[in-house]
Parts: sequence; structure tokens; C-alpha cells
Amino acid sequence: MIDLHAHIDLYPDPSEVVKEIDRRKMYVLSVTTTPSAWIGTYSIAKHYSRIKTALGLHPQLAHERISELPLFDTYINETDYVGEVGLDGSTEFAEHKASQLAVLKHILKSCSNSGGKIISLHSRRAANDVIEILDEHPDSGVPIFHWFTGEERALKRAIQRNAWFSIGPAMLKSKKSIEMVKVIPKNRILTESDGPFAKVSGKSLMPWDVESAVLGLSRIWGMTPFETQETLFSNFRALIESKS
Ligand code: MN
Repeated sequence: MIDLHAHIDLYPDPSEVVKEIDRRKMYVLSVTTTPSAWIGTYSIAKHYSRIKTALGLHPQLAHERISELPLFDTYINETDYVGEVGLDGSTEFAEHKASQLAVLKHILKSCSNSGGKIISLHSRRAANDVIEILDEHPDSGVPIFHWFTGEERALKRAIQRNAWFSIGPAMLKSKKSIEMVKVIPKNRILTESDGPFAKVSGKSLMPWDVESAVLGLSRIWGMTPFETQETLFSNFRALIESKS
């Protein structure tokens, strides 16, 4: 199983989570929310080859952590993965739009200078803006929209731009999202948990809970869970190869 967006460092016991991921032979992208979290989070998983750590600066923290951009640039050459980054246009964070834009533009420039990255993107209520900024940074790498909830027009723009989409169990609880998933080409989809932030029935999702997203996708695609897993693995290989 594949979890392309998990906040391993935010679980109460990250080292236990990492051990269980390893026991299940899962592939996980461990995203971070601040550059200062990079060293600690990278250390948790550095001995596990199937777990990769992404360097991030979450848009909801952009205004507080903009001073960490030099730190972002310090670490950028240490990883092929960047996330969680992006924009958040929801009411709570819209007032910090200027800092969010400055941070995202800086990060994408830094990704371009470092040869391009695989980038896990947050785009809540800001999908069009994120796509526009990606367009301004064509060498930044391969974008993966995590938990995409934009309008259909934005979705189609992102698809046209060869973006990827990581889909989780919480997202598949929404009828609107299910309709959106039907529009995305099968070969552009990957799974994610977004745990421990994302919850289903009040319980934080664990990386291995992506299993229920696999089942959800198999229903949407009219495929067996086995065929769905095969498709997701072949997508995952294509994603990794697109970078190398
Ligand atoms: Mn997240």
C-alpha cells in the first residue's frame, strides 16, 4: 500500500508508526509542516528505504514561519520530495494570503534551482491560484494535489497540466469528491491518509488506513481491489520515474 501524504511526526508515537509501516511493507511519503521539523522527521525514518521524507512549509503556518525560508533552502538538496506546501484560501487563513504567496513562490523557485521535486500540494479554496503559480514555475517538478477540493474547471486545468492527485479515505466520504475522482484519469491517482489530521468517524487515520481508499477507488473504477492495487503501484512507479 502507498500513503503519499502522512504527517508521521505529528502522531503521538512516530517511531511506533514507522515500525508498523515497515512491518506492512508500505511506501510512505512523510510530509512536514515547517523547515525546522525536517531534521527530526527525517531522522525518524532514515533507516527505512520505503519511507521518504518531504521538506515542507504548510500554508496555514506561512505567516508565522516565513522566517524559516532560508532553512528551507539549506535542506532542499537533501531530498527529492517537497510538502506540505501550497495555499489555503479558507476564511481563517485568507488574511495571510500575501505571506502564503511569498512562501510558495520562494519554495517553487528553490525547487527549480534544485532540479525539480515531487511536490505534495495543499490547495484548499485556492486551487486556481496554486495552478497559476505552478504555471509560473514550470521547472519546479511534479505536482501532486493532495485532497483536492477545487471546482471542476480547476480540476481540469490541473489534469491538463499533468498533475497527480492523492486521494484518502476521508475524501471518499464526500459525494462531491467521488464525482471528482471519476473525472481524474486512473493513471494520475495515488492514495494518501493525511493522518493524523484527517479523521474518519472522529478517529485519526493511520497510514495503513489507505486500504479503505483502495476499496473506495475499486468501487469507483469497477475493478477488484487487487487490480486497483496493481494500478496504484504502476502509478507510483511512473511517478518516481517521472522524477529520475
Ligand atoms: Mn496534510
